[in-house]
Amino acid sequence: MTLPRTADAHEVLHRIFGYDTFRGNQQEIIEHVCGGSDALVLMPTGGGKSLCYQIPALVRDGVGVVVSPLIALMQDQVDALLALGVRAGFLNSTQGPDERRAVETAFLSGELDLLYLAPERLRVESTLRLLGRGKIALFAIDEAHCVSQWGHDFRPDYLALSQLHERWPDVPRIALTATATKATHAEIATRLGLDDARHFVASFDRPNIQYRIAPKDEPRRQLLHLLRTEHPGDAGIVYCLSRNSVEKTAEFLAAQGLTALPYHAGLDAGTRAANQSRFLREDGVIMVATIAFGMGIDKPDVRFVAHLDLPKSVEGYYQETGRAGRDGLPSTAWLAYGLADVVQQRKMIDDSDGDLAHRRRLSQHLDAMLALCETVECRRVQLLNYFGQQGTPCGNCDTCLVPPESWDGTVAAQKVLSTVFRLDRERRQKFGAGQIIDILLGKRTAKVEQFDHHSLTVFGVGTELTEGEWRGVVRQLMAQGLLAVEGNYQTFVLTEASRGVLRGERQVMMRRDPKRQAQGRSRSARAPQAELPAAAAPVFERLRAWRGATAKEQGVPAYVIFHDATLREIATRMPSTTAELGTISGIGENKLAKYGEQVLQTLAG
Ligand code: ADP
Ligand code: ZN
Repeated sequence: MTLPRTADAHEVLHRIFGYDTFRGNQQEIIEHVCGGSDALVLMPTGGGKSLCYQIPALVRDGVGVVVSPLIALMQDQVDALLALGVRAGFLNSTQGPDERRAVETAFLSGELDLLYLAPERLRVESTLRLLGRGKIALFAIDEAHCVSQWGHDFRPDYLALSQLHERWPDVPRIALTATATKATHAEIATRLGLDDARHFVASFDRPNIQYRIAPKDEPRRQLLHLLRTEHPGDAGIVYCLSRNSVEKTAEFLAAQGLTALPYHAGLDAGTRAANQSRFLREDGVIMVATIAFGMGIDKPDVRFVAHLDLPKSVEGYYQETGRAGRDGLPSTAWLAYGLADVVQQRKMIDDSDGDLAHRRRLSQHLDAMLALCETVECRRVQLLNYFGQQGTPCGNCDTCLVPPESWDGTVAAQKVLSTVFRLDRERRQKFGAGQIIDILLGKRTAKVEQFDHHSLTVFGVGTELTEGEWRGVVRQLMAQGLLAVEGNYQTFVLTEASRGVLRGERQVMMRRDPKRQAQGRSRSARAPQAELPAAAAPVFERLRAWRGATAKEQGVPAYVIFHDATLREIATRMPSTTAELGTISGIGENKLAKYGEQVLQTLAG
């Protein structure tokens, strides 16, 4: 990049990236790092972390070295920078020796602005020696939560990163992450030895994402309905817990005529790479995946993230849903959740390897996730709270849009718990929620008769609620730790806490699931579409077609050419000169020179 040596941060923002103003605390962070100091940055996904190290790398002398765990995405990250005219390269295990040597040479001769490295490279002495022979502007440690064992994404290679400071005490380090509870936050600082770093904690709010958690009924049908009514033709991610349900869901969606591709660790590397590449490069692809997919995916126009199974932690959930709407346009985070999820996750924790402390940690993570699902308060307030931040009811989540009622479920809880207590004598038999509910409703099923359950005193005492409502009660008792499953037969058992309820010493408040209005969604709980003025819509489509063809020709994702938000602004403002075009957000010098004429021609029709 040929910048004057005095280039300041603002000039880089404008000339290279084509943006007018910094977002949030970007400017403060950038000035701090440009000045040579360490920083720890907590910012939600889509908050704009990349600029926080890319700009200082361009302003400071030398090369910015970026440590990032996902080698599969380095090529795209580098392509995006090259499209801006920034000299970037990467070193990882996917390269041949010639390619690697070319990057090393460029690094040593000062012809790079940014160098991306996988963390395991830094365990190799030859890499450290190479770095020692060049000039380094800064170290950026991306996805810094990977150093934390408390978090959900621990990578042992990250532990070695503390040595960077010992070898290069004068080079500023900036660690960045989008997941940070207090515990993770503290652990990152300690493990990376960021003793003197200034901490920058951005607001974790993502106002353009609408959070919705729906009672699980027929999850695939519910999902299909969501996609057809609210997100036709949109790109999105559907998360499932198992490989099997990834396959089944992708097949189901494909059979309905949608472009849906599977992604999980059981697929061979070639298929995974091909599917990921189509998701990034084509418009409107739905990726059905396990959580093996997504870290570092910076596709800006993901319009929805759907979870068909309960995530294991709020941190994971927030990071996954955060992949929606990086471009700031309205997006949906939708989760389907039911009794079976709670039972399954509790069992997985019981069966998991690791010591008691580990299992307790998993339980705490799950409890926080369940509390989010069962809350009658604003989801966003609860999420922000989890990350130690305050919020006010947002008006853009399901509980704000269609407030659920809460009700005193103490008596209902007592009925379920006494039934469990009575069944407990027959522990060697598997009685699921179905049997408990049949007893409460007074149904003389074969299984009820077989075990003589119609003679229990609780038989038929629960006709005031429907079967579905009873399932909700059992689920919430599980979620609140008032009921547990145990043993080989996975029977329901009482917990310490449930005795207080039975003795009438404790009140149990419950959430009444909103009535299933025509597939569980009212008009008001619909993601606001990003509306274009009528005249602009066809122009936007023409620009998208041009962008698609250009991206294909160059073998890069469409968003590397221009983001949707940029195309929308062009279609709305209809610039007629290159100078006018250059004032649009997201068009820097390099892109203006490269694509300006073509865009104006496309506008002219
Ligand atoms: P993160 O890494 O925090 O998830 P990114 O760095 O990918 O987020 O930024 C998210 C999106 O916001 C990107 O598309 C980026 O180009 C855009 N962006 C970042 N900073 C600004 C800014 N100051 N003005 C306009 N757009 C920005
Ligand atoms: Zn809300």
